[in-house]
Amino acid sequence: MKAVVVSKPGIIKLENKEYPETIESTEVRVKVKTAGICGSDMHIYRGTNPFATYPRVIGHEFAGEIEDVGSDLTDFQIGDHVVIDPVSSCGLCYACRSGRQNVCEILAVMGVHVDGGMQEYITLPTSALHKIPSHLNWEVAALIEPFTIAAQATSRGRVTSEDTVCVIGAGPIGTAVMIVCKMKGAKVLIADNNTSRLDRAKKLGADAVVNPGKPREHEILNHFTNHEGFNVVIDAACVPETFEKAIAITSPAGRVVTLGLNPKSSNIAQLEITKKELDIMGSRLHTNKFPEVIGWISEKLINPGCLVTHHFEATKIEKAIRLVGEAPEGLCKTVINF
Ligand code: MN
Repeated sequence: MKAVVVSKPGIIKLENKEYPETIESTEVRVKVKTAGICGSDMHIYRGTNPFATYPRVIGHEFAGEIEDVGSDLTDFQIGDHVVIDPVSSCGLCYACRSGRQNVCEILAVMGVHVDGGMQEYITLPTSALHKIPSHLNWEVAALIEPFTIAAQATSRGRVTSEDTVCVIGAGPIGTAVMIVCKMKGAKVLIADNNTSRLDRAKKLGADAVVNPGKPREHEILNHFTNHEGFNVVIDAACVPETFEKAIAITSPAGRVVTLGLNPKSSNIAQLEITKKELDIMGSRLHTNKFPEVIGWISEKLINPGCLVTHHFEATKIEKAIRLVGEAPEGLCKTVINF
């Protein structure tokens, strides 16, 4: 069978890998159908993901069909369509005991710390699986995981219909965050310095857009928030300056959520946080958000498929990675078909 392997930074290939013939009595074998390419896959490819080890089968946004089930299992059947939660945790540490297994001390994420979903077949424990409706499009299914990230960010920011929200960054995650905020009834402005990304965000439901650094920026922000500032700012751009900006534009009693893994420091004074009594929250991966997101899709509250702009067969993985790296106009989410 074939697997997408990053053997070392800069080298990605579709390689032969042994088919997982045997499965444990509590495992299933999944025939992978689709996998999304994520910014973090690009970081693994470029050697800039602080958590990755090599060689690595990448892919943490994937879905497939159960091909075989272990002898002890009764709740999953051959032919079931499933999406995979790529995160596994110890269940014992403080974070796990607090229901925050996404920040477990010995966290393992498929496609990062251990081999992931960009391979034709994979064996998995049922704890990683969530059933999806069999009529759900496979490319939409691959987008469920990125929407768990958006679900987490909006729940960390306690976004409600009362809130005026700013999302910084209109890439796939920022746009997914915007979509979830809108679904929750909030008033949402999205910021990005790429006009075509802003146009897309507007089409997908953003109430307003802004290009930071352009002359009318302050006027737009002040008008949108009635000079109050944003009740919630979610930073999905994640450079030192956007985190500084997020603190500056949040209203008193507001919340700031960062999704960043950027090791560089931001320049933020205590005064800015204390005088407004801001809550500043990190948001990493998700805590059990798959059932919620699958529910939203089933109820047609969100349509993750709206983010898919490009798709490739697995045999064209090098071409796909090159395209995502070049980030041409109009690109949002790229999905690989197996
Ligand atoms: Mn991802």
